[in-house]
Amino acid sequence: MQDSSFQPDFPAPDQPIDELALAEIKGAILAKLRLAIGKDAGMATKHDWYQAAALTLRDRIVHRWLSAEKRSYDAGRKRVYYLSLEFLIGRLFTDALNNMGLLKIFEVALGDLGVSLPELRKCEPDAALGNGGLGRLAACFMESMATLSIPAIGYGIRYDYGLFRQIINQGWQQEYPDEWLGFGNPWELQRPEVIYDVRFGGGVEHVDDKGRDRAIWHPSETVLAMAYDTPIVGWRGQHVNALRLWSARSPDPLKLDAFNTGDYVSASAEQSRAEAICKFLYPNDESPAGRELRLRQEYFFVSASLQDLIKRHLASDGQLRSLSNKVAVQLNDTHPSLAVTELMRILIDDHNFRWDEAWKITVATLSYTNHTLLPEALETWPVELFERLLPRHLEIIYRINVQHLALAEARAPGDIDFRASVSLIDEKSGRRVRMGQLAFVGSHRINGVSAMHSDLMRETVFHDLNHLYPGRITNKTNGITFRRWLMLANPKLTDLLREACGEAVLDDPTRLELMEARASDVAFQQRFRSVKLHNKTALARLIGERLGIKVDPNALFDVQIKRIHEYKRQLLNVIETVALYQAIKDDPNGNWVPRVKIFAGKAAASYRYAKLIIKLINDVAEVVNNDPSIGGKLKVVFLPDYNVSLAEVIIPAADLSEQISTAGMEASGTGNMKLSLNGALTIGTLDGANIEIRDHVGAENIAIFGMEAGDVMIRRKQGLDASDVIRRSPKLQRAINSIGGGEFSPGDPGRFESIAHALRYLDHYMVSADFDSYYDAQRSVDARWQVAPAWTRASILNVARMAWFSSDRTIREYAEEIWNVPVNPSTPLLPNLRDVAG
Ligand code: PLP
Repeated sequence: MQDSSFQPDFPAPDQPIDELALAEIKGAILAKLRLAIGKDAGMATKHDWYQAAALTLRDRIVHRWLSAEKRSYDAGRKRVYYLSLEFLIGRLFTDALNNMGLLKIFEVALGDLGVSLPELRKCEPDAALGNGGLGRLAACFMESMATLSIPAIGYGIRYDYGLFRQIINQGWQQEYPDEWLGFGNPWELQRPEVIYDVRFGGGVEHVDDKGRDRAIWHPSETVLAMAYDTPIVGWRGQHVNALRLWSARSPDPLKLDAFNTGDYVSASAEQSRAEAICKFLYPNDESPAGRELRLRQEYFFVSASLQDLIKRHLASDGQLRSLSNKVAVQLNDTHPSLAVTELMRILIDDHNFRWDEAWKITVATLSYTNHTLLPEALETWPVELFERLLPRHLEIIYRINVQHLALAEARAPGDIDFRASVSLIDEKSGRRVRMGQLAFVGSHRINGVSAMHSDLMRETVFHDLNHLYPGRITNKTNGITFRRWLMLANPKLTDLLREACGEAVLDDPTRLELMEARASDVAFQQRFRSVKLHNKTALARLIGERLGIKVDPNALFDVQIKRIHEYKRQLLNVIETVALYQAIKDDPNGNWVPRVKIFAGKAAASYRYAKLIIKLINDVAEVVNNDPSIGGKLKVVFLPDYNVSLAEVIIPAADLSEQISTAGMEASGTGNMKLSLNGALTIGTLDGANIEIRDHVGAENIAIFGMEAGDVMIRRKQGLDASDVIRRSPKLQRAINSIGGGEFSPGDPGRFESIAHALRYLDHYMVSADFDSYYDAQRSVDARWQVAPAWTRASILNVARMAWFSSDRTIREYAEEIWNVPVNPSTPLLPNLRDVAG
């Protein structure tokens, strides 16, 4: 059943403003200011105005939310529950205004009241409840599910502190708490009545219940999970879903007897222990206490979410046998894998299901998205910790494993290695529960996030499981919401696209292809370039304000923005920067393309090597930016505190997108899609979704270099010593020598010795091995840049050919091929280029 109406009833962006509606919005904002904030217009701060405007908007969204809920329940529609420990949302204000079609009217209303909407927008802190791509994907998916009118709830944790704030002090990263809730959060609705017990520890008793074994878990600790709902509105305001985040409380928040004796610390000790669960996004897992807290977080949000969705299902359907007809649960990575055991526990222990039937329901309901093949990132937990924290769940895991290993034995009789490889328990390095295996076995579909990643899943980490459960692995290449990453981030380009492709491009990204006909048109190219220049000027201003570095908006803006990680190879980019600097210095009058190398990204607090790479970037920047002999031909910039809002400024201003991970290591990437959609050319390896980007934009409109995944595997087997390639590459040798020898760290010449050593002898990430190929690709980028019409044409074609990377397409594929839920029929179906090409 579809919702009855998908017709937009808000004015399209450029329609004239209705005076009555304008007066109503102004009145509503002023009323909120008085009655919800308690201030008069005369004494209100910018922040008060922001809160009043946000609450005014929220009221309008809530009306639609309630009616969408009612419609979907009345129609008995299947619902999707997206379980994710991360939602990297950024700001919601203009996103929600735009989707509701209210951006313009609010801008005018606020202007009439004497406040500027762009200024108010900055009052909203980024909701950084995620680390990077995985969390940002979840945020894009929430928006696309609402756009496609799929009834859905995103479940996660309402962290008191999101991803740390990054400050760069003398080139070093320092981490500070992100107090995003300091001024309250106008988007969320606290639900003190929606509260669940989440239990930990204790032991399990088994009793005979009329010939059936019955498990009774006697937990030693209970934590309460309380819901906070944030409405997420889809494009054109047709449908609204909730992001439901759980906050932890103690059932016994204050021990009065202890308090009255003056022992204030132990009086609230239980509360502190409970609240630790939702304190931070990612507790440092270097210590056993940090690791335990992480497992507690995982179970906490899985248990609360499953209890919640089951309660909702029972209220509308009356029984659980049909769960998978009405409910699809998507596990975003292995963090919610405990859903497999928790659902089994609820069905068997709380609702009396027999094992086999419970198992059928569980597998039919759950599906799992894998995000990484890196062995160190595949979650495992010591059995001993499980036993202590979740004894009943461990029993269930053992029982699942018995059945699963029997199947393995039937498939490959006597093959001990096969059984060991698929087992839910890793016996090699102490006994550990493998969360990837658990999620795989308990799900009917397991998806990778790019074509290559899904292929590698079948060939590597899940090779044997794929053999045992053929057909379960499927691919769902990531996508991005164009509303945020094109319309809002790049309004000037959007205006040009509306003109070139028609207003309908806002609803149907396939119309972007209409730009292809204009790609060589001189006048169109000129306008396209002036949009880019406008965005680059804005970024240059921001760089000047934040760092005091002057950059020329006419230079090539070369951008690498993402988490700092060895596999993402910021180091390769820095070494190329050093080599380029040295080449310019050798020949200052050469025909060099002026470049600004722009970096941004955070390193995990405990990842020392990545933090050293940040220091290296900053040290190189210090030397290069202050060397008059290169005549400003090269500038290096590290913008601190990378987050969604900063990405929204950098991406529209980028000329070149660095997607240079070691082949085989980046599952997909989504930054690569955002940059290409905004007209940046990609320099990249054949990794993750870069391959599909190349397929779509055309090999001539992207600069591919370096080893392929297969080459990397072969070279690694031969050893990690890179002396051979360094010997053959004088540029690389010189760059490594100068970094290792302290040329960029004269006050501490040994600072980067470890980096130089790794580049020479421990080249696991193939930085040295790929250097020459990368350097040459960069010079071919220079040559292309010097022919402006050819560059602009390639840039236009990148934008024109990116429609397929809309997260609406991705979500439609999940809906049709994994969840089995219908989507809004008015959204266009985008064929996969590979299918079209046969
Ligand atoms: N972090 C932030 C703040 C982002 O906005 C994005 C993507 O847009 C990412 C991380 C992921 O970037 P990538 O796909 O390049 O790793």
